[in-house]
Amino acid sequence: MDAKEKLNFLISNPLLDSELRNVANKVLQEERITFDEGVYLYEKAELGYLGVLANFIREKRHGDITFFNRNFHIEPTNVCVYDCKFCSYSRMIKERAEGWEMDVEGMMDIVKKYDDEAVTEVHITGGVVPKQNLDFYAEFFKKCKAHRPELHIKGLTPVEYYYIFKKAKLSHYDGMKYLQSCGLDSMPGGGAEIFHPEIREQIAHDKCTAEQWLDIHEQAHKLGMHTNATMLYGHIEQFWHRVDHMERLRQLQDKTGGFQTFIPLKFRNKENQMSHVSEVSVIEDLRNYAIARIYLDNFDHIKAYWAMISRDTAQMSLAFGVDDIDGTLDDTTKIYSMAGAEEQNPGMSTQQLVELIRKVGRHPIERDTLYHVVTDYKDVVFEDDSKKKNYYALPVVNN
Ligand code: SF4
Repeated sequence: MDAKEKLNFLISNPLLDSELRNVANKVLQEERITFDEGVYLYEKAELGYLGVLANFIREKRHGDITFFNRNFHIEPTNVCVYDCKFCSYSRMIKERAEGWEMDVEGMMDIVKKYDDEAVTEVHITGGVVPKQNLDFYAEFFKKCKAHRPELHIKGLTPVEYYYIFKKAKLSHYDGMKYLQSCGLDSMPGGGAEIFHPEIREQIAHDKCTAEQWLDIHEQAHKLGMHTNATMLYGHIEQFWHRVDHMERLRQLQDKTGGFQTFIPLKFRNKENQMSHVSEVSVIEDLRNYAIARIYLDNFDHIKAYWAMISRDTAQMSLAFGVDDIDGTLDDTTKIYSMAGAEEQNPGMSTQQLVELIRKVGRHPIERDTLYHVVTDYKDVVFEDDSKKKNYYALPVVNN
């Protein structure tokens, strides 16, 4: 059965709850589901049901294609003026001796390390410190572009920008416009956490609000930049807070169309101020991907960070709405391992990532940041592969 036949089969089941049948019909007809239906899915829908719906949408949009890109990360500092309770990564200003704060040359040294690598993107994110201000990033973006013009700079989040623009007395629009003129190409999705103030005030009380986060993305979209969005789930929020979060994103996307990808981020409880909060199960991870795929009907892509949820869960997520796997080239990011992710050395070669995708019957495509195809790996045979094939092709001679 293909994805559509499975969905029709599900709808025809007389034992299916009528609300769930209604939602399944909406998905089949490509109609938008409501806020209340989103909450109902979280409360009542089983994993198998959600997988059928989410996979129908995923395959309708992308078939078997699974995207990944080759990037590297720069984390300019792990010191931070803010005090997010879930953060395992940052050192507060008073503990700065335990942290790192790079200068522009240090960041350029990392860029130069990748001169001979076929990477298409540098992903920059970290803490917030006064020294890494507007001039600091303007200088870095210019130097990076001068050194390697084709490298896409996906840099910082509204958390950093809100702080930087406020200090520089610039509006969100003017600040983004200026940094775009220095070389900034797009923005990653971090810092969104959970938008609703009931939760945000408990887990991230002193950084930018939901409104400020959304406004900075809106201004970036006005300037023609593409951006991503995240949601930190599985801690003290209730299901309706997740739907509220996605609803705000869906509304902004209706207005601007500037978001490319939604990335659910699992709360991990290692070495942070919320270590007493237990983590959700893999089942809940997969349900969450699927509901995001169903709810965010105006987002093209749903992405999983394999380094955060493990390789196995990343593979499974490809049957629950995910069409993009974040693939770093090596261990240039410490954010996930410091938060207690399974992957303590989050490096995977292109071949390993391609095999991970192929093993679950999907079609790997390397993309650039804007989802242009860089390499189609459908029929690519890696050198090691061909050696293995020769070995396994030997006839059995011991009879
Ligand atoms: S999550 Fe980001 S803003 Fe919050 S403390 Fe950590 S580094 Fe700072």
